[in-house]
Amino acid sequence: MRHPDRNGIFAQSSRRAFLASGLSLAAAAAFSRPARAIGRITMGASEFITVSDGSLALPMDSLFPDIEKAELEAFLRAHDMPTDALRPQCNVTILKQGDRTTIFDVGAGSNFVSSTGALLENLGAAGIDPETVTDVIFTHAHPDHLWGVTDDFDELVFANANYHIGQAEWDFWSSPDAMQSVAEDRQSFVVGAQNRFAVLEERIAFLKPGQEVLPGVEVVGTPGHTPGHLSFLVHDGRDQTLIAGDAVSNTQISFEHPEWRTSSDQDPDGGVATRKALLSRLAGDKSRIIGYHFDKAGIGRVERQGEAYAFIAEDAAR
Ligand SMILES: [Zn+2]
Repeated sequence: MRHPDRNGIFAQSSRRAFLASGLSLAAAAAFSRPARAIGRITMGASEFITVSDGSLALPMDSLFPDIEKAELEAFLRAHDMPTDALRPQCNVTILKQGDRTTIFDVGAGSNFVSSTGALLENLGAAGIDPETVTDVIFTHAHPDHLWGVTDDFDELVFANANYHIGQAEWDFWSSPDAMQSVAEDRQSFVVGAQNRFAVLEERIAFLKPGQEVLPGVEVVGTPGHTPGHLSFLVHDGRDQTLIAGDAVSNTQISFEHPEWRTSSDQDPDGGVATRKALLSRLAGDKSRIIGYHFDKAGIGRVERQGEAYAFIAEDAAR
């Protein structure tokens, strides 16, 4: 006779297997979903792997409210970018160090938009078993970064991990006032965050800027995109790599025009201040940057070009 706990574990893993097969079918059907973009780079004893969860489509007409339409379209055309919508990749970063496997953000899961939710399938293609993930670290609590933490049975996808998020981010989305503080078309973000937080509550630890979340992983406060947004600077030997999250969100626009306020930042002025400070610091330090919504593998360095910056890609998507 099976021990009841065993039954529980068996039932849970069968459901996961079922969900994983459902995801594969969905992925095969959605031809617009990008191929398995996987970037890999090593820095000392640290290995970074970027894995795609899919992509988003953000209508261009409301994204940069201060920029004249003609100026914006000229910029986009000059960079071979579509003018109707920004179509950012969503790339989760995995950091492997010895026995530790850390994942930064977890994708959108199956309840956000149909062009996302491919993370589990693509993790499999990259040879990463969710059960082996030791730490999950969130940059912020937007759907494309957080909602994939639970499956359709409201169980944690990374069953054995320790979870970490900014204290200010948790407090913002948990607050009874959260619904009033966001735009009407983002009120579902509040409900979605609070639902995931209810599952995470017993397991999650809270971060403050300046602390070390793991050995050699420094917490950097990067508010603006959301009130408690965090980035993470990984130090190994003389080199360092910033997991930027959405503090710097586009390899063309954010680098060439860090001063453009965007409605995708909850506090557009705060977003500009954070972006300028980060790019200046990274260009000076010659640090590497990995952006969640950067093109292709999303790994590169920052080069100062007069008042602006350029993104120098280090690894192409495979
Ligand atoms: Zn995002």
